[in-house]
Amino acid sequence: MSEYQIETKCVQSGWQPKKGEPRVLPIYQSTTFKYETSDQMGRLFDLEDSGYFYTRLQNPTNDAVAQKICELEGGVAAMLTSSGQAANYYAVFNICEAGDHMICSSAVYGGTFNLFSATVKKQGITCTFVDPDASAEEIAAAFRPNTKVLFAETVANPALVVLDIEKFAKVAHEHGVPLIVDNTFPTPINCRPFEWGADIVTHSTTKYMDGHATCVGGCIVDSGNFDWEKYADKYPGLTQPDPTYHGIVYTQKFGKGAYITKATAQIMRDLGSIQSPQNAFLLNVGLETLHLRVARHCENAAKVAEFLNSHEKVAWVNYAGLKENKYHALAEKYMPNGTCGVISFGLKGGREVSVGFMDKLKMIAIVTHVADARTCVLHPASHTHRQMTDEQLMEAGVAPDLIRLSVGIENAEDIIADLAQALDTI
Ligand SMILES: *Cc1c(COP(=O)(O)O)cnc(C)c1O
Repeated sequence: MSEYQIETKCVQSGWQPKKGEPRVLPIYQSTTFKYETSDQMGRLFDLEDSGYFYTRLQNPTNDAVAQKICELEGGVAAMLTSSGQAANYYAVFNICEAGDHMICSSAVYGGTFNLFSATVKKQGITCTFVDPDASAEEIAAAFRPNTKVLFAETVANPALVVLDIEKFAKVAHEHGVPLIVDNTFPTPINCRPFEWGADIVTHSTTKYMDGHATCVGGCIVDSGNFDWEKYADKYPGLTQPDPTYHGIVYTQKFGKGAYITKATAQIMRDLGSIQSPQNAFLLNVGLETLHLRVARHCENAAKVAEFLNSHEKVAWVNYAGLKENKYHALAEKYMPNGTCGVISFGLKGGREVSVGFMDKLKMIAIVTHVADARTCVLHPASHTHRQMTDEQLMEAGVAPDLIRLSVGIENAEDIIADLAQALDTI
Protein backbone atom coordinates (compact mmCIF):
# COMPACT_ATOMS: atom_id res chain seq x y z
CA MET A 1 0.00 0.00 0.00
CA SER A 2 2.96 2.33 0.45
CA GLU A 3 2.79 3.52 -3.17
CA TYR A 4 -0.66 5.08 -2.66
CA GLN A 5 -1.47 8.64 -1.58
CA ILE A 6 -2.58 9.19 2.00
CA GLU A 7 -6.31 9.55 1.12
CA THR A 8 -6.24 6.13 -0.53
CA LYS A 9 -4.46 4.64 2.47
CA CYS A 10 -7.21 5.95 4.79
CA VAL A 11 -9.72 3.93 2.80
CA GLN A 12 -7.73 0.93 1.56
CA SER A 13 -4.85 0.13 3.93
CA GLY A 14 -4.95 -2.52 6.62
CA TRP A 15 -7.47 -5.28 5.93
CA GLN A 16 -6.61 -7.05 2.64
CA PRO A 17 -9.21 -9.77 2.08
CA LYS A 18 -8.34 -12.82 0.02
CA LYS A 19 -10.66 -14.89 -2.14
CA GLY A 20 -14.09 -15.25 -0.59
CA GLU A 21 -13.21 -13.31 2.57
CA PRO A 22 -15.38 -10.41 3.84
CA ARG A 23 -14.75 -7.16 1.96
CA VAL A 24 -15.21 -5.16 5.17
CA LEU A 25 -12.85 -5.72 8.12
CA PRO A 26 -14.51 -8.36 10.33
CA ILE A 27 -14.68 -8.05 14.09
CA TYR A 28 -12.77 -11.06 15.38
CA GLN A 29 -14.85 -11.24 18.53
CA SER A 30 -12.86 -14.11 19.99
CA THR A 31 -10.53 -14.24 22.92
CA THR A 32 -8.74 -17.24 21.56
CA PHE A 33 -7.61 -19.03 18.40
CA LYS A 34 -7.52 -22.72 17.54
CA TYR A 35 -4.51 -24.91 16.65
CA GLU A 36 -4.17 -28.51 15.58
CA THR A 37 -1.15 -29.69 17.46
CA SER A 38 0.33 -28.84 20.79
CA ASP A 39 3.62 -28.11 19.06
CA GLN A 40 2.04 -25.44 16.83
CA MET A 41 0.82 -23.61 19.91
CA GLY A 42 4.15 -24.06 21.67
CA ARG A 43 6.02 -22.38 18.84
CA LEU A 44 3.77 -19.32 19.14
CA PHE A 45 4.61 -19.03 22.84
CA ASP A 46 8.30 -19.12 21.98
CA LEU A 47 7.81 -16.39 19.34
CA GLU A 48 9.15 -18.94 16.85
CA ASP A 49 6.04 -18.68 14.66
CA SER A 50 3.78 -15.70 14.22
CA GLY A 51 0.08 -16.25 14.70
CA TYR A 52 -2.80 -15.47 17.00
CA PHE A 53 -3.47 -17.29 20.22
CA TYR A 54 -4.97 -14.89 22.74
CA THR A 55 -6.52 -11.47 22.12
CA ARG A 56 -4.68 -9.82 25.04
CA LEU A 57 -1.55 -10.08 22.91
CA GLN A 58 -2.84 -9.78 19.37
CA ASN A 59 -6.11 -9.89 17.45
CA PRO A 60 -6.56 -9.80 13.65
CA THR A 61 -9.06 -6.91 13.72
CA ASN A 62 -6.72 -4.80 15.83
CA ASP A 63 -3.71 -5.70 13.73
CA ALA A 64 -5.41 -4.64 10.50
CA VAL A 65 -6.24 -1.25 12.00
CA ALA A 66 -2.75 -0.84 13.47
CA GLN A 67 -1.38 -1.63 10.01
CA LYS A 68 -3.49 1.13 8.47
CA ILE A 69 -2.24 3.70 11.00
CA CYS A 70 1.30 2.41 10.47
CA GLU A 71 1.03 3.07 6.73
CA LEU A 72 -0.52 6.50 7.29
CA GLU A 73 2.45 7.47 9.47
CA GLY A 74 5.00 5.80 7.21
CA GLY A 75 6.25 3.47 9.96
CA VAL A 76 7.39 -0.16 9.99
CA ALA A 77 5.25 -1.59 12.82
CA ALA A 78 2.37 -0.50 15.04
CA MET A 79 0.09 -1.68 17.81
CA LEU A 80 -3.22 -0.55 19.23
CA THR A 81 -3.78 0.10 22.92
CA SER A 82 -6.93 0.60 24.96
CA SER A 83 -6.35 4.36 25.27
CA GLY A 84 -3.98 7.17 24.42
CA GLN A 85 -2.77 7.06 28.02
CA ALA A 86 -1.82 3.41 27.62
CA ALA A 87 -0.05 4.20 24.33
CA ASN A 88 2.10 6.91 25.91
CA TYR A 89 2.82 4.81 28.97
CA TYR A 90 3.79 1.71 26.97
CA ALA A 91 5.83 3.75 24.48
CA VAL A 92 8.02 5.01 27.33
CA PHE A 93 7.94 2.01 29.66
CA ASN A 94 9.05 -0.24 26.77
CA ILE A 95 12.50 1.41 26.97
CA CYS A 96 12.65 2.90 30.49
CA GLU A 97 12.84 1.17 33.82
CA ALA A 98 13.43 2.01 37.48
CA GLY A 99 16.51 4.19 37.76
CA ASP A 100 16.07 5.74 34.32
CA HIS A 101 15.31 9.33 33.42
CA MET A 102 13.25 10.92 30.67
CA ILE A 103 12.70 14.42 29.34
CA CYS A 104 9.30 15.73 28.32
CA SER A 105 8.03 18.96 26.83
CA SER A 106 6.15 20.94 29.47
CA ALA A 107 3.36 21.65 26.96
CA VAL A 108 1.56 18.31 26.98
CA TYR A 109 -1.88 16.89 27.64
CA GLY A 110 -2.82 17.02 31.35
CA GLY A 111 -3.04 13.23 31.61
CA THR A 112 0.41 12.87 30.09
CA PHE A 113 1.78 15.41 32.55
CA ASN A 114 0.34 13.43 35.48
CA LEU A 115 1.64 10.16 34.05
CA PHE A 116 5.22 11.40 33.66
CA SER A 117 5.40 13.74 36.66
CA ALA A 118 3.75 11.47 39.23
CA THR A 119 2.86 7.93 38.20
CA VAL A 120 6.04 6.74 36.48
CA LYS A 121 7.97 8.37 39.34
CA LYS A 122 6.46 5.76 41.67
CA GLN A 123 8.01 3.15 39.40
CA GLY A 124 11.41 4.79 39.71
CA ILE A 125 11.45 6.70 36.41
CA THR A 126 12.11 10.41 36.83
CA CYS A 127 11.12 13.08 34.34
CA THR A 128 12.46 16.56 33.66
CA PHE A 129 10.08 18.93 31.88
CA VAL A 130 11.52 21.39 29.37
CA ASP A 131 9.94 24.37 27.64
CA PRO A 132 9.13 23.32 24.05
CA ASP A 133 10.40 26.72 22.91
CA ALA A 134 13.76 26.25 24.69
CA SER A 135 16.91 26.36 22.59
CA ALA A 136 18.67 23.14 21.61
CA GLU A 137 21.37 23.98 24.20
CA GLU A 138 18.78 24.42 26.95
CA ILE A 139 17.13 21.10 26.10
CA ALA A 140 20.56 19.43 25.94
CA ALA A 141 21.27 20.68 29.47
CA ALA A 142 18.42 18.51 30.79
CA PHE A 143 20.10 15.28 29.64
CA ARG A 144 21.71 12.94 32.17
CA PRO A 145 23.71 9.76 31.62
CA ASN A 146 20.56 7.71 32.42
CA THR A 147 18.21 9.64 30.09
CA LYS A 148 16.41 7.20 27.78
CA VAL A 149 13.67 9.18 26.02
CA LEU A 150 12.75 12.65 24.80
CA PHE A 151 8.96 13.10 24.58
CA ALA A 152 6.75 15.88 23.15
CA GLU A 153 3.46 16.58 21.37
CA THR A 154 3.48 17.78 17.75
CA VAL A 155 0.61 20.17 18.52
CA ALA A 156 0.17 20.38 22.27
CA ASN A 157 -3.23 19.82 23.86
CA PRO A 158 -4.49 22.33 24.98
CA ALA A 159 -1.66 24.88 24.66
CA LEU A 160 -1.53 24.47 20.84
CA VAL A 161 2.24 24.87 20.85
CA VAL A 162 3.63 23.61 17.53
CA LEU A 163 6.71 21.51 18.12
CA ASP A 164 9.94 22.19 16.27
CA ILE A 165 10.27 18.47 15.52
CA GLU A 166 13.68 18.75 13.82
CA LYS A 167 15.14 20.63 16.79
CA PHE A 168 13.88 18.02 19.26
CA ALA A 169 14.98 15.11 17.05
CA LYS A 170 18.47 16.53 16.66
CA VAL A 171 18.99 17.01 20.40
CA ALA A 172 17.63 13.53 21.10
CA HIS A 173 19.89 11.89 18.53
CA GLU A 174 22.97 13.82 19.67
CA HIS A 175 22.36 12.20 23.07
CA GLY A 176 21.67 8.76 21.64
CA VAL A 177 17.99 8.58 22.62
CA PRO A 178 14.82 8.32 20.52
CA LEU A 179 12.30 11.13 20.13
CA ILE A 180 8.74 9.99 20.86
CA VAL A 181 6.01 12.36 19.71
CA ASP A 182 2.31 12.28 20.40
CA ASN A 183 0.77 13.18 17.02
CA THR A 184 -2.87 13.10 18.15
CA PHE A 185 -3.89 16.63 17.11
CA PRO A 186 -2.47 16.96 13.58
CA THR A 187 -2.93 13.26 12.71
CA PRO A 188 -0.80 11.87 9.87
CA ILE A 189 -3.08 13.76 7.45
CA ASN A 190 -1.50 17.05 8.49
CA CYS A 191 1.89 15.96 9.83
CA ARG A 192 4.05 12.87 9.54
CA PRO A 193 6.71 13.28 12.25
CA PHE A 194 8.94 10.46 10.92
CA GLU A 195 9.68 12.67 7.90
CA TRP A 196 11.23 15.18 10.33
CA GLY A 197 13.28 12.80 12.46
CA ALA A 198 10.91 11.53 15.15
CA ASP A 199 11.50 7.85 15.96
CA ILE A 200 8.23 6.75 17.52
CA VAL A 201 4.75 8.23 17.20
CA THR A 202 1.85 7.78 19.61
CA HIS A 203 -1.83 8.60 19.24
CA SER A 204 -4.93 8.96 21.26
CA THR A 205 -7.14 7.47 18.54
CA THR A 206 -10.05 8.67 20.70
CA LYS A 207 -9.75 12.04 18.97
CA TYR A 208 -9.78 12.70 15.20
CA MET A 209 -8.94 9.13 14.19
CA ASP A 210 -12.15 7.73 15.63
CA GLY A 211 -13.59 11.18 15.10
CA HIS A 212 -17.11 10.48 16.30
CA ALA A 213 -16.50 10.27 20.06
CA THR A 214 -17.46 6.61 20.22
CA CYS A 215 -14.31 4.79 21.39
CA VAL A 216 -11.36 5.46 23.66
CA GLY A 217 -8.20 4.06 22.08
CA GLY A 218 -4.51 4.51 21.40
CA CYS A 219 -1.79 3.53 19.00
CA ILE A 220 2.02 3.33 18.94
CA VAL A 221 3.91 3.41 15.64
CA ASP A 222 7.64 2.75 15.23
CA SER A 223 9.61 4.30 12.36
CA GLY A 224 12.18 1.51 12.65
CA ASN A 225 14.88 4.18 12.37
CA PHE A 226 16.37 4.24 15.86
CA ASP A 227 19.49 2.09 16.14
CA TRP A 228 18.98 0.35 19.51
CA GLU A 229 22.06 -1.83 19.06
CA LYS A 230 24.29 1.22 18.69
CA TYR A 231 23.29 2.11 22.25
CA ALA A 232 22.93 -1.49 23.39
CA ASP A 233 23.97 -0.83 26.99
CA LYS A 234 21.26 1.83 27.33
CA TYR A 235 18.43 -0.35 26.06
CA PRO A 236 19.09 -3.79 27.56
CA GLY A 237 15.39 -4.69 27.31
CA LEU A 238 15.74 -4.72 23.53
CA THR A 239 19.34 -5.84 23.12
CA GLN A 240 19.79 -8.41 25.93
CA PRO A 241 18.10 -11.82 26.24
CA ASP A 242 14.52 -11.75 27.55
CA PRO A 243 14.27 -14.55 30.14
CA THR A 244 10.46 -14.51 29.83
CA TYR A 245 10.86 -15.67 26.21
CA HIS A 246 13.63 -18.24 26.64
CA GLY A 247 16.32 -15.66 26.16
CA ILE A 248 15.43 -14.20 22.77
CA VAL A 249 17.04 -10.86 21.91
CA TYR A 250 14.43 -8.60 20.28
CA THR A 251 16.81 -6.60 18.11
CA GLN A 252 18.49 -9.75 16.80
CA LYS A 253 15.33 -11.70 16.14
CA PHE A 254 13.00 -8.95 14.94
CA GLY A 255 15.28 -6.25 13.50
CA LYS A 256 13.24 -3.14 12.77
CA GLY A 257 10.23 -4.80 14.40
CA ALA A 258 12.05 -5.14 17.75
CA TYR A 259 10.45 -2.23 19.59
CA ILE A 260 6.81 -3.05 18.73
CA THR A 261 7.37 -6.80 19.18
CA LYS A 262 8.70 -6.23 22.69
CA ALA A 263 5.86 -3.80 23.51
CA THR A 264 3.35 -6.42 22.36
CA ALA A 265 4.92 -9.67 23.50
CA GLN A 266 6.12 -8.39 26.86
CA ILE A 267 4.46 -5.13 27.97
CA MET A 268 0.99 -5.87 26.56
CA ARG A 269 1.23 -9.47 27.75
CA ASP A 270 1.95 -8.32 31.30
CA LEU A 271 -0.07 -5.10 31.59
CA GLY A 272 -2.93 -5.98 29.25
CA SER A 273 -4.33 -2.65 28.01
CA ILE A 274 -5.54 -4.13 24.74
CA GLN A 275 -8.09 -2.34 22.58
CA SER A 276 -11.31 -4.30 22.14
CA PRO A 277 -11.77 -5.60 18.57
CA GLN A 278 -15.21 -3.95 18.54
CA ASN A 279 -13.60 -0.56 19.19
CA ALA A 280 -10.88 -1.23 16.63
CA PHE A 281 -13.62 -1.90 14.06
CA LEU A 282 -15.27 1.46 14.82
CA LEU A 283 -11.88 3.17 14.74
CA ASN A 284 -11.33 1.75 11.28
CA VAL A 285 -14.64 3.17 10.07
CA GLY A 286 -13.51 6.55 11.38
CA LEU A 287 -10.13 6.26 9.65
CA GLU A 288 -11.84 5.76 6.28
CA THR A 289 -12.95 9.41 6.33
CA LEU A 290 -10.06 10.90 8.32
CA HIS A 291 -8.69 12.83 5.34
CA LEU A 292 -12.09 14.39 4.60
CA ARG A 293 -12.87 15.27 8.19
CA VAL A 294 -9.48 16.70 9.14
CA ALA A 295 -9.56 19.03 6.13
CA ARG A 296 -13.05 20.27 7.09
CA HIS A 297 -12.11 20.67 10.77
CA CYS A 298 -9.19 22.87 9.70
CA GLU A 299 -11.24 24.87 7.21
CA ASN A 300 -13.94 25.58 9.81
CA ALA A 301 -11.39 26.34 12.53
CA ALA A 302 -9.68 28.91 10.31
CA LYS A 303 -13.02 30.72 9.81
CA VAL A 304 -13.90 30.56 13.51
CA ALA A 305 -10.43 31.80 14.51
CA GLU A 306 -10.80 34.80 12.18
CA PHE A 307 -14.23 35.56 13.64
CA LEU A 308 -13.01 35.40 17.24
CA ASN A 309 -9.88 37.35 16.42
CA SER A 310 -11.87 40.29 15.13
CA HIS A 311 -14.47 40.28 17.94
CA GLU A 312 -14.23 43.17 20.40
CA LYS A 313 -15.01 41.03 23.46
CA VAL A 314 -12.27 38.52 22.74
CA ALA A 315 -8.99 39.25 24.53
CA TRP A 316 -6.80 36.82 22.65
CA VAL A 317 -6.94 33.89 20.22
CA ASN A 318 -4.40 31.12 19.91
CA TYR A 319 -4.52 29.30 16.59
CA ALA A 320 -1.37 28.63 14.59
CA GLY A 321 -3.29 29.27 11.37
CA LEU A 322 -3.47 32.99 12.25
CA LYS A 323 -0.61 34.92 10.66
CA GLU A 324 0.37 36.78 13.83
CA ASN A 325 0.49 33.54 15.89
CA LYS A 326 3.80 32.73 17.55
CA TYR A 327 3.78 29.27 15.96
CA HIS A 328 2.61 30.27 12.49
CA ALA A 329 6.02 29.77 10.87
CA LEU A 330 6.51 26.33 12.48
CA ALA A 331 2.99 25.32 11.46
CA GLU A 332 3.67 26.41 7.85
CA LYS A 333 6.80 24.29 7.83
CA TYR A 334 5.51 21.11 9.46
CA MET A 335 1.78 21.30 8.71
CA PRO A 336 1.20 23.35 5.56
CA ASN A 337 -2.37 22.05 5.20
CA GLY A 338 -3.36 23.14 8.72
CA THR A 339 -2.69 22.04 12.30
CA CYS A 340 -6.03 20.81 13.69
CA GLY A 341 -9.51 22.03 14.52
CA VAL A 342 -8.76 23.10 18.07
CA ILE A 343 -8.58 26.80 18.97
CA SER A 344 -8.01 28.39 22.34
CA PHE A 345 -9.05 31.87 23.35
CA GLY A 346 -9.80 34.09 26.32
CA LEU A 347 -12.40 36.81 26.82
CA LYS A 348 -11.91 40.35 28.10
CA GLY A 349 -12.80 40.25 31.80
CA GLY A 350 -10.92 37.02 32.44
CA ARG A 351 -11.78 33.71 33.98
CA GLU A 352 -15.33 34.31 35.29
CA VAL A 353 -16.50 35.91 32.03
CA SER A 354 -15.04 33.00 30.04
CA VAL A 355 -16.90 30.47 32.18
CA GLY A 356 -20.16 32.48 31.96
CA PHE A 357 -19.89 32.68 28.18
CA MET A 358 -19.61 28.90 27.89
CA ASP A 359 -22.87 28.44 29.80
CA LYS A 360 -24.67 30.55 27.17
CA LEU A 361 -23.73 28.37 24.19
CA LYS A 362 -26.63 26.48 22.61
CA MET A 363 -25.38 24.09 19.93
CA ILE A 364 -21.79 23.96 21.15
CA ALA A 365 -21.65 21.61 24.13
CA ILE A 366 -19.44 21.62 27.22
CA VAL A 367 -17.77 18.21 27.16
CA THR A 368 -14.46 16.71 28.23
CA HIS A 369 -13.47 15.93 24.72
CA VAL A 370 -11.87 17.39 21.66
CA ALA A 371 -11.54 16.51 18.05
CA ASP A 372 -14.79 14.87 17.13
CA ALA A 373 -17.44 15.80 14.58
CA ARG A 374 -19.41 17.99 17.02
CA THR A 375 -18.13 21.41 18.09
CA CYS A 376 -17.45 21.51 21.82
CA VAL A 377 -15.79 23.62 24.50
CA LEU A 378 -13.92 23.05 27.72
CA HIS A 379 -12.32 25.24 30.36
CA PRO A 380 -9.09 23.36 31.18
CA ALA A 381 -8.37 25.23 34.42
CA SER A 382 -11.75 24.07 35.83
CA HIS A 383 -11.81 20.68 34.14
CA THR A 384 -8.95 18.62 32.64
CA HIS A 385 -6.15 20.53 34.37
CA ARG A 386 -7.85 21.31 37.67
CA GLN A 387 -5.27 19.37 39.70
CA MET A 388 -2.51 21.75 38.57
CA THR A 389 -1.27 24.78 40.46
CA ASP A 390 -1.43 28.17 38.70
CA GLU A 391 2.32 27.93 38.18
CA GLN A 392 2.06 24.48 36.55
CA LEU A 393 -0.81 25.77 34.41
CA MET A 394 1.31 28.62 33.07
CA GLU A 395 4.22 26.23 32.43
CA ALA A 396 1.88 23.96 30.46
CA GLY A 397 0.77 27.01 28.47
CA VAL A 398 -2.74 26.96 29.94
CA ALA A 399 -3.89 30.44 30.96
CA PRO A 400 -6.53 30.45 33.72
CA ASP A 401 -9.04 32.12 31.34
CA LEU A 402 -8.28 29.76 28.43
CA ILE A 403 -11.30 28.30 26.66
CA ARG A 404 -10.56 25.31 24.47
CA LEU A 405 -12.84 25.24 21.46
CA SER A 406 -12.85 22.10 19.34
CA VAL A 407 -14.33 23.10 16.02
CA GLY A 408 -16.43 20.36 14.46
CA ILE A 409 -17.53 19.64 10.93
CA GLU A 410 -20.93 21.37 11.05
CA ASN A 411 -21.49 24.40 8.81
CA ALA A 412 -19.01 27.09 9.92
CA GLU A 413 -21.73 29.78 9.81
CA ASP A 414 -23.81 27.90 12.39
CA ILE A 415 -20.79 27.51 14.69
CA ILE A 416 -19.99 31.21 14.39
CA ALA A 417 -23.63 32.18 14.97
CA ASP A 418 -23.71 30.23 18.25
CA LEU A 419 -20.48 31.86 19.42
CA ALA A 420 -21.81 35.27 18.40
CA GLN A 421 -25.08 34.95 20.34
CA ALA A 422 -23.22 33.77 23.47
CA LEU A 423 -20.77 36.67 23.14
CA ASP A 424 -23.73 39.08 22.89
CA THR A 425 -24.96 37.96 26.32
CA ILE A 426 -21.78 38.87 28.21
C1 LIG B 1 -6.59 12.76 24.83
C2 LIG B 1 -5.13 12.75 24.70
C3 LIG B 1 -4.35 11.76 25.30
C4 LIG B 1 -4.95 10.68 26.16
O1 LIG B 1 -5.69 9.84 25.37
P1 LIG B 1 -6.92 8.91 25.91
O2 LIG B 1 -7.33 8.21 24.68
O3 LIG B 1 -7.95 9.86 26.46
O4 LIG B 1 -6.35 8.02 26.95
C5 LIG B 1 -3.00 11.79 25.09
N1 LIG B 1 -2.42 12.74 24.35
C6 LIG B 1 -3.15 13.73 23.76
C7 LIG B 1 -2.46 14.76 22.93
C8 LIG B 1 -4.51 13.76 23.90
O5 LIG B 1 -5.23 14.74 23.32
